Amino acid sequence: MDTQHQETEATHASNEPFKDNNQGVINPPIYRASTVLFRTLAELRASDKDKFTGLHYGIYGTQTTFAYEEAIAKLEGADKSITVPSGLAAVTTSLMAFLNPGDHLLMVDSTYGPTRKFCDSILAKYNIATTYYDPLVGASIAELVRPNTKVIYLESPGSNSFEIQDIPAIQAVAKARNIVTILDNTWATPYFFKAFEHGVDISLHAATKYIGGHADLMLGSINTRKEYYRRLKIQVHGLGMCVSPDDCWMALRGLRTMPTRLKQHEANALELAQWLQKRPEVKSVLHPAFPDHPGHAFWKRDFRGSSGLFAVELFPKNDAQIAAMIDHMELFGLGYSWGGYESLILPVHEDMSRSAAPKRTTGPILRLHAGLEHLEDMKKDLEAGFHRMGKTA
Ligand SMILES: *Cc1c(COP(=O)(O)O)cnc(C)c1O
Repeated sequence: MDTQHQETEATHASNEPFKDNNQGVINPPIYRASTVLFRTLAELRASDKDKFTGLHYGIYGTQTTFAYEEAIAKLEGADKSITVPSGLAAVTTSLMAFLNPGDHLLMVDSTYGPTRKFCDSILAKYNIATTYYDPLVGASIAELVRPNTKVIYLESPGSNSFEIQDIPAIQAVAKARNIVTILDNTWATPYFFKAFEHGVDISLHAATKYIGGHADLMLGSINTRKEYYRRLKIQVHGLGMCVSPDDCWMALRGLRTMPTRLKQHEANALELAQWLQKRPEVKSVLHPAFPDHPGHAFWKRDFRGSSGLFAVELFPKNDAQIAAMIDHMELFGLGYSWGGYESLILPVHEDMSRSAAPKRTTGPILRLHAGLEHLEDMKKDLEAGFHRMGKTA
């Protein structure tokens, strides 16, 4: 079969139950290795010449790593995938691979906080200048390009504010000027946004989120067009990055059910968002599928769906009122990250570090991750929370 549906790809990619010693076992086994033996000196020397193909030494991965990488690359339509220890490592190593001292980076203003921190501290230390741009800039990003601009970095929707970018318009500007585009595609996953069909060069994932899917894994994936693969591999290996095959095995296991889980996360988030929109405490809902959301038209044009993470802007509330709601939730957990099966709630700030884009909200913002619990139970939990909020002065 040439073109499979995504659910089919996710469930069958990299499974070879009758290959080698697998003897019918469905899931690729965990191969743990530091040393990899060669039969002859000639074989060792041949492998030395091409360390990025096949087994060479544990730091370059084993069959387990390759099985995960082939599956995630297939799902996203990437030529190649590289596994790194965290989503943040995927961000930082990709940026470092394409930026040298004296270069210039265009970074979306609504980016994930630690990405911004990396630009302002470590890239700045190496004399790499960052200009932040409004996520809604579109084709006029051309006005911000300098002769030394080497990377345009996108994240859509933006962290905490959820604006959707006009990726094809930005991509066209980049391509005409030989600038590499890197997209943080964590929110949509390869299931809801096909980065390579939209022209992006490199697509990053915090596999920690929906790919792992069970709040028990830290992992990152760099998916890329083949012309950038070697450059990225040299960077990742040069920094000594290495991922446990056990973690790759967990990510591959998570990938099997990701499309199915995402459909439920999507449905639950949409229903909760619509329910929250009617609450008297809620001023606005920040969800890309809502028609009045900034960039909604781009979401509708380019995305295949929406995942479980969104936010609500409240009418003014003080800290005690927010705490009265959040401190006693039964189902919605309070903590960082998202993408697991459980619901989460977290106060966030749209304007924590914005410098280019206008602030689009005023009230306190609660970020919600719609888990896989029953909707009625989730609503009950939120309703009780709003009730506690209302009783607090
Ligand atoms: C969580 C997240 C990351 C970082 O992933 P970690 O695995 O926690 O390092 C990067 N980008 C986005 C958009 C994220 O939400």
